[in-house]
Parts: sequence; structure tokens; C-alpha cells
Amino acid sequence: MAVNALNPNVWDECINLALEAYNAGSFGIAAIIVDKNGEVVAKGRNQLGDNLNSCNAIKMTPIAHAEINALNNLPPERQKDRELTLYTTVEPCPMCTGAVVMSRIRQVMVGSADPWAGAIRLLDKDWYLKQKGISVVFEQGKVEELCFALHYLSLKRGLRTEHPVFAVMQSRYPDYSEKLDGLINSSQLTISEHLSRAQLLELIGC
Ligand SMILES: [Zn+2]
Repeated sequence: MAVNALNPNVWDECINLALEAYNAGSFGIAAIIVDKNGEVVAKGRNQLGDNLNSCNAIKMTPIAHAEINALNNLPPERQKDRELTLYTTVEPCPMCTGAVVMSRIRQVMVGSADPWAGAIRLLDKDWYLKQKGISVVFEQGKVEELCFALHYLSLKRGLRTEHPVFAVMQSRYPDYSEKLDGLINSSQLTISEHLSRAQLLELIGC
């Protein structure tokens, strides 16, 4: 699978952590912060819906997002490091985009876009945010599809079918969502069951 040249293991680790979140009953979203050498210095996962032991300090509150937890887990000696990169499986929401801006992180790698709640576009729309000079790279290919799948399946599990988020997601990712809907409709994928890494990779064709 296609991975970032700096550290090929980071997306792998992100997918594993997002799967942990998904299987725990939260949104399948994870974030990892690496230093300039590609070493992992902090991680966090979404924990809106479970109270299990994890790498997170923030659980079961509306701010228990992956990026917030990763930023919160940064060791004190790394708080002022300006050469850190934050990897996140799903485009940050307005809260997490704001948290990145207020941290020293200036490079963000995004696994898949979030056309519903993603807020990266705000970085260009406000003078204060713009002068921070945050660079953002959106992944493509299998990394994008895997990250999208875990996000989309979380939404499918948690929201009613008629929720407007689905039309927005399907319009941004028509092929990926059609494939997942097909797997669900044919019962090859059951969203209420535990999803293993092997199963996920096989379904996506990695
Ligand atoms: Zn967020």
C-alpha cells in the first residue's frame, strides 16, 4: 500500500489505532504525531463512544477527537518543536484544525477528506490562520480508501440512513462509498461486528 516516504509505518499505525477506536464503539479515526526523523512522539484516537483504556486522556466528551488526544499527549519537551508532523486518518474538524493552529505543528498529513465536518479550507480563509503557514497534504490511493472506509462505516453504524451526511460523503467519494454500500447490502460486511485488520485490507483490496 502507498505510504508516506518519511515513515512508511505511520499510516499503518494510524489504521491500527483507528480500527481500535472503531471496534471499541467510537468513530474509526486516529492521529499520530511524528518528529522530523519520523519517530512517533504522540498518538490519539477518537473516543467519543467508549471508556476503555487507551492512549487517550480525554474520553467520552464531545472533544474526545483523535487529534485533540494526540496533541494532548505530546510530551512537554516536544510542545515547542516546530518540525513535527501530525498524521490524521480523517480531515480535521473545526475544533481540531483550531487546535493544530494553536499548537506548534505546521505540517499535517490527511488520510481522507471529510466533506461534511472537515475544516482545512478555513486555513486559507482567515488572516490569522493563514499566516501560520500550515501545510496540508491529502493522501490518495489505498491509504485514502482505508481511512475513508473506517470513517464511513462509523457513520453507517451510528446514524440513520436518511442522515444528510451520506449524500455529502457519497458525492465526494462515489466509488469508495458505492463499494462499501455494496459489501454491506450483500452481507459481506456487517457493521455491527468486530472488524479485523485482515478483513479490512481484504475488503478494500490491499
Ligand atoms: Zn476533530
